[in-house]
Amino acid sequence: MTQFAGKSALVTGSTSGIGLGIAGALAARGAHVLLNGFGDVDAALASVGDAAAKSGARVAHHAADVSKPAEVEAMMRHADDVFGGVDILVNNAGIQHVAPVEEFAPERWDAVLAINLSSAFHTTRLALPRMRRKGWGRIVNVASVHGLVASAHKAAYVAAKHGLVGLTKVVALETARTNITCNAVCPGWVLTPLVQAQVEARAISGGLDLDAARDELLAEKQPSGQFVTPEQLAELVCFLSSDAAAQVRGVAWTMDGAWTAQ
Ligand code: NAD
Repeated sequence: MTQFAGKSALVTGSTSGIGLGIAGALAARGAHVLLNGFGDVDAALASVGDAAAKSGARVAHHAADVSKPAEVEAMMRHADDVFGGVDILVNNAGIQHVAPVEEFAPERWDAVLAINLSSAFHTTRLALPRMRRKGWGRIVNVASVHGLVASAHKAAYVAAKHGLVGLTKVVALETARTNITCNAVCPGWVLTPLVQAQVEARAISGGLDLDAARDELLAEKQPSGQFVTPEQLAELVCFLSSDAAAQVRGVAWTMDGAWTAQ
C-alpha cells in the first residue's frame, strides 16, 4: 500500500467527514499528508496517523482559515517547509448555509463563496508552479451534485460548487499538455456533520425523529436510498490521483446514488 510513497498531499477541511476519509486513504497508501481544518484536530491527527504508521508516511496539520488568502499562503509555505510542497492537492473544505435567496444573509454568501470556491483558486495557483517544475501533480476538487444541478434555498452553495466545476475545467485545459491533472468529484448525500445539521433541521421543522428525517432527506433526492460514504469517495480520489487516471481530465465525476440520473 505504498502507491503514493514519496508524494505529499494537502487535504483542506480534513479534520472531519469526507476530508478526513480522503486524508486517511492517501496516508495509508504512503503519501505524507498535511491536514487542515478546525474542531478536534488531535483526533484527526491520531486517526490519519494510524493509517500513516503502517505505510511510513508523515502527517501534520495547519490551522489556516481557507477563507483568508493570507492564511492559505501561509499554509502552502508550511507545506513547502514540512513536505517539500504539494503533489496531490485535494480542495475539500466546505460549509453550507440554507435560506431562500431573498433572506440569504450577505455575509453567509461571502463565507460560502470564500471557503467552497475561492480557497481552491488560491491553493491551486500556489501549488501549480511547483507541480510544473516537478512534472507531476494531481488536483481533486470536492464539488457536489450541486455543482451540476440545483436545490432550492442553497444559492451560495450551488453557485460555489458550479464555480468549482468551472475552475476544474479551466485548470484541466491549462495543464492538458503536462502530467498534472485536475478533476472534480460530485458526491450526493454523505452522512457527515455538514449533513447531520440538515437532518436535525428537518426533524425539528417536520416534527420527525432523526431516523425518519434521514430517510425523508434521502428519499427526496437520492434514488439508492443510501448515503455515500467518505471511504467510497476516498477510493475515487485515490483513483483520480493514480497514474491509471492520467487521461481523466476536467471531469465532474458523480458518486450520488443516481441523484443526477433523474
Ligand atoms: P464537514 O463539516 O464534516 O467537514 C468540513 C471540513 O471543513 C472540516 O474539517 C472543517 O473544519 C473544515 N472547514 C470549514 N470551514 C473551514 C475554513 N474556513 N477553513 C478551513 N477548514 C474549514 O463536511 P463534509 O460533509 O465532510 O464536507 C466536505 C466537502 O464535501 C465540502 O466541500 C462539502 O461541500 C462537500 N460535499 C459534502 C456532501 C455531503 O453530503 N456531506 C455532499 C457533497 C459535497
